[in-house]
Amino acid sequence: MRYIIVSNRLPVTVSRRKGQFTTKKSVGGLATGVSAVFENSEGIWIGWPGMASDTLSMDDREELEMLLRRDGFEPVFLSSRDIAGYYHGYSNKTLWPLFHYFANYTVFSDSEMWKRYVDVNRKFAKKIIALYRDGDIIWVHDYHLFLVPQMVRKEIPDATIGFFLHIPFPSYEVFRLLPERKELLEGVLGADLIGFHTYDYVRHFLSSVRRIVGIEHHMGRLWVGKRQIKASAFPMGIDTDRFIKLAQSSSVQKKIENYRKKLHGRKLVLSIDRLDYSKGIDLRLKAIERFFDKYPKMREKVVFALIVVPSRSQVETYQDMKERIDKLVGQINGKYGGWGVIPIWYMYKSFPQEDLVPLYALADVALITPIRDGMNLVAKEYIAVKQGESGMLVLSEMAGAAAELGEAVLVNPMDTDGVADAIYEALTMSIEEKRERMGKMFERVKKWNVHRWAEDFVERLEGIKDYHRQFAGKILTGKAKKQLKDAFISARKRVLLLDYDGTLTKIVRRPEYAKPDKEIKDILKRLSDKAEVVIVSGRDRKTLDQWFGDLPVSFVAEHGAWIKHKGKDWNTLIAIPSDWKNDIRPIMELYADRTAGAFVEEKEHAIAWHYRMALPEHAQVMAAELKEVLMSLISGKDLEIIDGNKVIEVRVAGINKGIASSRFIEDADFILAAGDDWTDEDMFEAMPEHAWTIKVGPKPSKAKWIVEDVDEMRSLLNELSTLDMTK
Ligand code: UDP
Repeated sequence: MRYIIVSNRLPVTVSRRKGQFTTKKSVGGLATGVSAVFENSEGIWIGWPGMASDTLSMDDREELEMLLRRDGFEPVFLSSRDIAGYYHGYSNKTLWPLFHYFANYTVFSDSEMWKRYVDVNRKFAKKIIALYRDGDIIWVHDYHLFLVPQMVRKEIPDATIGFFLHIPFPSYEVFRLLPERKELLEGVLGADLIGFHTYDYVRHFLSSVRRIVGIEHHMGRLWVGKRQIKASAFPMGIDTDRFIKLAQSSSVQKKIENYRKKLHGRKLVLSIDRLDYSKGIDLRLKAIERFFDKYPKMREKVVFALIVVPSRSQVETYQDMKERIDKLVGQINGKYGGWGVIPIWYMYKSFPQEDLVPLYALADVALITPIRDGMNLVAKEYIAVKQGESGMLVLSEMAGAAAELGEAVLVNPMDTDGVADAIYEALTMSIEEKRERMGKMFERVKKWNVHRWAEDFVERLEGIKDYHRQFAGKILTGKAKKQLKDAFISARKRVLLLDYDGTLTKIVRRPEYAKPDKEIKDILKRLSDKAEVVIVSGRDRKTLDQWFGDLPVSFVAEHGAWIKHKGKDWNTLIAIPSDWKNDIRPIMELYADRTAGAFVEEKEHAIAWHYRMALPEHAQVMAAELKEVLMSLISGKDLEIIDGNKVIEVRVAGINKGIASSRFIEDADFILAAGDDWTDEDMFEAMPEHAWTIKVGPKPSKAKWIVEDVDEMRSLLNELSTLDMTK
């Protein structure tokens, strides 16, 4: 199995010294996690090497390409304009702030930035397509490359593509602000598996897909055209063993001793962040000020080490923030400093990870209070280095990591007072309690490490590939279609059992709009010369009579409550009176009143609450509630609840399309049963082995065959209706 990993940056940093290129491994979460998969397989990693192509001569490029290719890396060269528009622009001025809920920092509707974003995504996609070999697994990373999955899918329809988002996915209310919201979702829906750090992000994503693209999900599974795809949470871990080993190394031990001397017995509270407004550094400083105010005895006992790593320093908002932080640190140190006492040790630079480890080891408290953070690996690294022995973590509940690190002192980063108290609580917590809480978190961080994260994702992706393979075998094409036609011609008695809505006609907003058109009526008419045609519907008798009464066909109405043989009268299969509806109707009407767009449809042996036109989110809650109420109401009666496609129906129990349609197939040697929703599954199940059961739409089914959609179904029936039966 070969992997094609795709990320904005390659996992190495390229530098040039005296005209010679050299590469050095990067250590970020993505780089280490995915490297594990990459190194254990024959793989390619596609990404930007980090320098503008216009600063490189052709020779430079070739040299760099050769150097990178030796390690399996494939560079995508970007010009300064690409970098400005795609990277600094749309990725970091539009997507990053909005996905972190900073709508006020978000640049909207900059067409040049968007254009570059699309162009660069296409560049990445082209590279993948050029390198792709049959059977490869493609894994695309992060918000820079939302459009890549669909671009690749278009060219390689059966490719296996995974996508992982390393930042939060915001609530629909925020996401919908993006002018390009639909393109972005459609882009990522080209993947087979879409991964997020937490279930909240998955929920937000699914809700945006439902409301913007109009695709419903079932337990995180969605149908995108013919493909079933999945969205799921895969919380990213760290390379825990590496941190444990580093902590035990003699060089780190030496550093710990050195730093310890500098503390002069004071306690250390450590923060490490990239300079970013999402990290809440300025709010944290206000909380530190509040802490010194509120707990004056702590002033000489505690040192705050504030490490801020320079980042995106070309962007204005980042420059403003840097100034704000500088000023606040100055104010606090001025206010609470003294001879030999500096309350905040502020470092605006980046450290190699080896140098962070002694700080983690020494810190009595790690203070991590982002306003929003996809995951936050620093929190996990601190836990790993402490190994459950000491220390305490104060963690923002807005960090993805909080979903897994519930034993930390969790805080709302906006609550200055609350954070000040949390710092105090963490500093004064008993060693037993710290050990218990840190111990539990350590076990989790150890178990759910980054290797496991990558393995889980890839395993799930491979599973989807198998599923697709099985599925592809069921699609009714070429050879199978020919066999079906031959069987049709050579049979003595032919029966066609056809569901109507969703099978012969597309699903529409109101049931009454689905009136049959001339084309389908002509097809059915021609078919009825050759076979017994039965419309097997959930609709009532009256509608079927009105719509098809002029055709020589038979009917099953109300999901099997009524049947009518061609030219004969209606017959019911139900013996009980229908006064039970008087109890159900008022409840359904009440729920229809409370749900804009929902309505009640009454049939002779059933009563249905439709919510196809209602706002999906609200309607789903109401539907679930209604179902609960109905369930308690019908218990002990001969009734059942059917949770159908955007409809909740109560009907008499013990009837279904299967029982009713069986009445038509006696001594038929050709049977075709077609349907699209789960009520048709009863029909499929009731059919004998030799029947051609066909599901319309690529969904899991008991049917033996699948056709893609209503058009395909119609075209199959049309072909049957025009077959020359004399051959
Ligand atoms: N890091 C580092 N040097 C520094 C500061 C941070 O190597 O001076 C590393 C840190 O160990 C962690 C990563 O950068 O692995 C930061 O990841 P996190 O998820 O906490 O934040 P991000 O920067 O991805 O938003």
